[in-house]
Amino acid sequence: MTAAAPVDLQNSVFDVLIAGSGFGGATAAYALSHAGLRVLLVERGGWPNRDETDWNGRAILLDGRYRGETPLLVRQEGAAEAVETFPNAVVGGNSVFFGGATLRLRTTDFARWPISYADLEPHYAAAEALLEVHGRAGEDPCGPPRTADYPFPPLALTRPARRIYDAAAALGLHPFQLPIAINHFGAREPRCINCFTCDGFPCRIGAKNDMTQTALKKADPTRLTILARAEVARLFERDGKIVGVEVIDRRGGAEGGAASGRRLKLSARAYILSAGALGTPALMLRSELARLDQSGALGRNLMRHCNAMVGYVFPFRTNPEAVNHKQICITDQYESVRASDGTALGVIQDMCMPPREVVRALGPRGFRWAASLSAASIQTLLCVAEDEPRPENRVTLAPHRLDGGGLPVAEVIHDYSDADRRRRATLVALARRVLRRAGGLIGKVRLIDSFSHAVGTARFSRSRMEGVLDPDCRFWALPNLYVVDGSFMPTSGGVNPSLTITANALRVAARIADAFARGSV
Ligand SMILES: Cc1cc2nc3c(=O)[nH]c(=O)nc-3n(C[C@H](O)[C@H](O)[C@H](O)COP(=O)(O)OP(=O)(O)OC[C@H]3O[C@@H](n4cnc5c(N)ncnc54)[C@H](O)[C@@H]3O)c2cc1C
Ligand code: SF4
Repeated sequence: MTAAAPVDLQNSVFDVLIAGSGFGGATAAYALSHAGLRVLLVERGGWPNRDETDWNGRAILLDGRYRGETPLLVRQEGAAEAVETFPNAVVGGNSVFFGGATLRLRTTDFARWPISYADLEPHYAAAEALLEVHGRAGEDPCGPPRTADYPFPPLALTRPARRIYDAAAALGLHPFQLPIAINHFGAREPRCINCFTCDGFPCRIGAKNDMTQTALKKADPTRLTILARAEVARLFERDGKIVGVEVIDRRGGAEGGAASGRRLKLSARAYILSAGALGTPALMLRSELARLDQSGALGRNLMRHCNAMVGYVFPFRTNPEAVNHKQICITDQYESVRASDGTALGVIQDMCMPPREVVRALGPRGFRWAASLSAASIQTLLCVAEDEPRPENRVTLAPHRLDGGGLPVAEVIHDYSDADRRRRATLVALARRVLRRAGGLIGKVRLIDSFSHAVGTARFSRSRMEGVLDPDCRFWALPNLYVVDGSFMPTSGGVNPSLTITANALRVAARIADAFARGSV
């Protein structure tokens, strides 16, 4: 990658400008740079620090070391008042914090999509190669057909993972090794040391295969310019095309202070939004593009899975070696509600307990000290249930609220349906059985209320009346505007979204490269 400084940004016309460097944006930057296009990747966060503090539970999970400067209002579960949050902002997006689970959607998950599993399959294989996924084909009882094995075999089961595997198998289930994007056997250095602070943390040594270690390192450095600590504020449309963007440059020393930043006007021949399923609709709404969206779906149909953590106290220390044991997945009941709900049920995955100081801070009121003392004896499972796209779940702009840069603040409004909660409860009941079989004595369920799996707010569709994007993820109304983050997904499916976002970004990048080659951009 080239450093941004020597490039005269304002007087350059890039082929493609990408907003946001998560799974979607970084992957598109990688693919388009290798297609010979000049790419500018604009990311509001800075680079990961990769120092000792990146593995400090308090600094990362409680104090918000990577908290961005852009506020977000969240009103969920029928709350009357919105709560102000500051989502993380960093080069690599949420890939920097993700747990590495890299599962494909199943053939049945594509029933309401404008493309089929077969259309995405070659891109899934390419995405697994890009992310250097470690897994073993053929073990997942409802896994979709594959044309290639995983690039690397999985790590042998750790003791806590073996405990879950054996308990699930004893119940007649078919647990298997979760495909994971962590560098155990890849060619690059460093390799994973299997520490305890992985899911939710940046990897201090860079062994997690996040976007900074994969797509951005593998991109063509002569074609890609990365502008970090710069936020795309709005897009300008003229005569049926995007003609430029305004960027708030917070690289420091700018007049008005770092919070407001210097304003830059940048332009390209094509534009890709990948600011995440909360950020992309906010950016499109701020740019007054809703008036061009005939479906009325822009910002709507927000999904985030209906997730819960189930923890059981065991009569022994569950992970005395303090290793990362996010290694097991259970999909046996994935299709069990398809006929009634039209969705998947979802999956159960092994996960590590958060560090003790985090358990103490987030534990149930009145039991915090006890919870932190028993933390070493707790083992947890994560339940990921599919949730439904509902128009009332949405990203909108809060009236009369401006952020430090003078931009309207985005507001998220979300409630689960009864069916979403029922699917989660079914998974929780199964997770309880597994943990009890493994030797757990007393259980506690924690519902997850984050938007870490947000998708769906600019869905792609077969017609412009049904969705915001065409099947190539191009905004129906403007030929040079694309979206490649999780916003494009019309349904959330029952597995973690990152591999699907990466595969789709490779698919869309190939379409964009073709359009450039044909001279139609
Ligand atoms: C703790 C945690 C664990 C997770 N574990 C898993 C897992 O194991 N497996 C899995 O599949 N998924 C996991 N996820 C979910 C996964 O990380 C997300 O689904 C995925 O990152 C979404 O990718 P994206 O490209 O849509 O957006 P993001 O990764 O959210 O990237 C969006 C980027 O855009 C930037 N941005 C936003 N607005 C602007 C703007 N206006 N200008 C410039 N930049 C902007 C943001 O700073 C961010 O870098 C996890 C998420 C979290 C938080
Ligand atoms: S478990 Fe491995 S990849 Fe994850 S943070 Fe630790 S060293 Fe990094």
